[in-house]
Amino acid sequence: MSATYFRNARVVTEDADFLGGVVVAGGVVTEVVEGTPDRPGDVVEVGGRVLLSGLVDPHVHFSEPGRDWEGWLTGSRSAAAGGITSVAEMPLNAIPPTTDVSALRLKLESARTSVVDYTLWGGVVPGNEHEIGPLAREGVTGFKAFMCRGSDEFPHVSIDDLHIGARRIRQAGSFLAVHAEDEALTSRLTRTLIADGRRDPKAWGEARPVEAEVRAIASAIALAAGVGCRLHIVHVSTAEGIDLVTAAREARQDVTNETCPHYLFFTEDDLHTVGPFAKCAPPLRSAEIREELWARVLSGDVDIIASDHSPCPLADKEAGTDDIFKAWGGISGIQSGLNAILTEGVHRRGLPLSAVARMMSANPARLLGQYPRKGTIAPGSDADLVIVDLDKAFTLKASDLAYRHPHSAYAGQTFRGTVDATFLRGKMIHGEGLGAAPVGGGRFLNAVADVPATALTD
Ligand SMILES: [Zn+2]
Repeated sequence: MSATYFRNARVVTEDADFLGGVVVAGGVVTEVVEGTPDRPGDVVEVGGRVLLSGLVDPHVHFSEPGRDWEGWLTGSRSAAAGGITSVAEMPLNAIPPTTDVSALRLKLESARTSVVDYTLWGGVVPGNEHEIGPLAREGVTGFKAFMCRGSDEFPHVSIDDLHIGARRIRQAGSFLAVHAEDEALTSRLTRTLIADGRRDPKAWGEARPVEAEVRAIASAIALAAGVGCRLHIVHVSTAEGIDLVTAAREARQDVTNETCPHYLFFTEDDLHTVGPFAKCAPPLRSAEIREELWARVLSGDVDIIASDHSPCPLADKEAGTDDIFKAWGGISGIQSGLNAILTEGVHRRGLPLSAVARMMSANPARLLGQYPRKGTIAPGSDADLVIVDLDKAFTLKASDLAYRHPHSAYAGQTFRGTVDATFLRGKMIHGEGLGAAPVGGGRFLNAVADVPATALTD
């Protein structure tokens, strides 16, 4: 078994940051060394650049099968270009949505083209409670529900539906993730704003105020506490939302939070300059709210930073040019998340790189039950590695994007910090001289069959 030695690197994990190297053989890490000793085998000269464990993105929408909004091949190649080696794909916006076992099998077929490893989320929709046990036994990583209107094929749940679903999820030994915005409040405000003739970008944020997020998170936490179901709150956009999770955890509840790079990079004012490309739900917030969220990132209260990569054809964004309510509400961002956090976090606000490793690699791997196979650099872990040039600056062009529809709110933005190369189980899937990563090669991380034994005691 031939070895590869990643030599002369600044090795960064959630609890270490040192000059050293990593020896890889058979797709796994066999040795982590300090300094630059000689080791047999091929050498990848890292040249003092940063070496991170491959990022784990627990929140992506690849929309295949059934929609050409993204796709497993383009989505996963974009992930690799962003330093991501494992993704968890959401139960929407593919057709059919992943709300029963037959839909799960169709998605597993589509996913064979993926160049990164993947887990799949199951969905909770009104009336599918009998599918939850079977989906869990097939190896979905967890279950996602919408507390406010989502898409036509993936209806949102009432609190009562959620209660039924959460009980089944607990019985199945799985966990619940929610999109937390209050349906009553957001739909009433949307109706009122539209009736008043509002179509401008700011109206989108006014229809989905902080209160809508806070109200929904509070009720999800109360519900999960009552049922005894583990809970994850996806894409939290406010410090208040993060604080509700922190308080629940202090009360010994099993609940985690996630935010996204776009809530930390952009503000609501960017809807005017970037246009509908920056429309998402929950919406972008004010500069003041963004700084409060950064304070929670810096204090260690944010568990996970995930892309919520939610792509669409260009026309579905352009539809919102004169009427923001008509644009698709999602940001294409999987390729730029690490660049955004390095620029705004590490360089601008002094965020330690080890905290980046914790929020973008180790903690998401734990959420998905894949730690320590994923999410760290240690003997026995998968050789998923990313080489980052921390100081190189660049301006992102649309032509750099590997998405099926190459548009993004991040296009035209200038970043400091590049993803120079990405390796999955020791094989390069992004980097100079490779061209596009060969089709396939990613593995399904089955949450039942593939949980590393040590994860259970972590
Ligand atoms: Zn999403």
